[in-house]
Amino acid sequence: MRLVVKVGTSTLAHSTGNLNIRRVEALCKVLSDIKNAGNEILLVSSGATGMGSGKLGLLKRPEDISTKQAAAAVGQCELMYTYDKLFQQYNHCVAQVLLTRADIEDDSRRANLHSTFSRLLDFRVLPIINENDSVATEEFFIGENDSLAALVSTLVDADLIILLSDIDGLFTADPHKDQEAKLISRVEEITPELRALGGGAGSDFGSGGMSAKLNAAQIAMDAGCDMIIANGEHPEILYDIMAGEEVGTRFVARHEKKTGAAVR
Ligand code: GLU
Repeated sequence: MRLVVKVGTSTLAHSTGNLNIRRVEALCKVLSDIKNAGNEILLVSSGATGMGSGKLGLLKRPEDISTKQAAAAVGQCELMYTYDKLFQQYNHCVAQVLLTRADIEDDSRRANLHSTFSRLLDFRVLPIINENDSVATEEFFIGENDSLAALVSTLVDADLIILLSDIDGLFTADPHKDQEAKLISRVEEITPELRALGGGAGSDFGSGGMSAKLNAAQIAMDAGCDMIIANGEHPEILYDIMAGEEVGTRFVARHEKKTGAAVR
């Protein structure tokens, strides 16, 4: 299988903003093992701004654009250093690919990216992707990596996207507030009712934002790719997903995959 796995800052870091070493080590180990079993993996990783802020000694996440972009530039190095070191332990070579919306929307850049990813996968490299936060201008910000992961999956014709989050999936109500809230295990269509569950003011359950995840799901489903939201607290959950177990919320593709760089 060709998998796009997305991890958010809440999975990678403690609430202090510092790296969650145990979690990241487990993630790299499990991904390496799944790759060893013959699957291809592309990892979409957040965390650049968070890690950079920590390294620069900022007390909170920056709000102004230039400090944010500077922090992302610093943090991206730290992020890749960490992944390179950890994946190296399992003999996997990683590559950094940083994208903006413009790279995905422009036909020739898109075709170029498609070839680059294909060649990296031919070389059995594990591409690690993030938004190019230090150069993206407001106009071209994707802004969150859930949609970036879905857009990448259309570029590489992925078989499955897995969004690892700090919540088990999409619920019928906010599980932090409502004990009756039930996990929705399968979604075939993103209806306005479903959007209201994930997107209404004050009902943004995951820190990554459920409405962003629903937007990503829509892109994936339209492109013919299933998407799963699962809790990244224990990255071993990826084994259960690969074994076909029902985990988290699965958004089912609307049709068979379209092919190639032409997919939008
Ligand atoms: N690209 C951002 C970063 O690495 C994260 C975006 C997101 O959290 O979805 O800091």
